[in-house]
Amino acid sequence: MTDRRERKEEDVKIEDGRNEDRILLEMDSISRNEEFARVVMAVFMSRMNPTLEELDDVKTAVSEAVTNAIIHGYRQEKGIVYIEGIIAGNELTVVVKDRGVGMENIKQAMEPMYTSDKSGERSGMGFSFMEAFMDHLEVDSQPGEGTMVRMKKRIGG
Ligand code: ATP
Ligand code: MG
Repeated sequence: MTDRRERKEEDVKIEDGRNEDRILLEMDSISRNEEFARVVMAVFMSRMNPTLEELDDVKTAVSEAVTNAIIHGYRQEKGIVYIEGIIAGNELTVVVKDRGVGMENIKQAMEPMYTSDKSGERSGMGFSFMEAFMDHLEVDSQPGEGTMVRMKKRIGG
């Protein structure tokens, strides 16, 4: 990952030339905005006629990724969380990005019950929930540069 401006352009690029609907939401990294991100994604995907269960699954996954960006990525300090939604046919893609501290060891971070939190408040299950509630999960992260979580889910069969 390179300088800030280049990354910015990369962030807003549409993934490919397919016919698809796309939204991009930028928000300050404050806990109060978590609910907003979940609801925006739920409204966006409602055009796919999801079941209530599918809606809940996506809302939970978005919530876990956004919470991680705020708490771990930005360590509760000010930053911007980027949330992208893409609908291509019956597939929903959600991308959550931060430009926070990043991770040294992604594999370890994704293990069930692994948490770097020392306070005992966190259970280390965020990535496991994202994996369980979505069909596909991909994480990219660089220490000092940030983290990107890309999740996909087929909606309606
Ligand atoms: P829980 O989600 O159950 O409250 P948790 O956040 O620690 O606990 P996960 O969401 O599975 O558990 O994340 C595991 C670990 O991965 C975190 O403890 C943190 O060290 C690291 N991590 C996750 N997301 C990020 C991020 N956006 N930036 C930096 N580190 C992250
Ligand atoms: Mg978490």
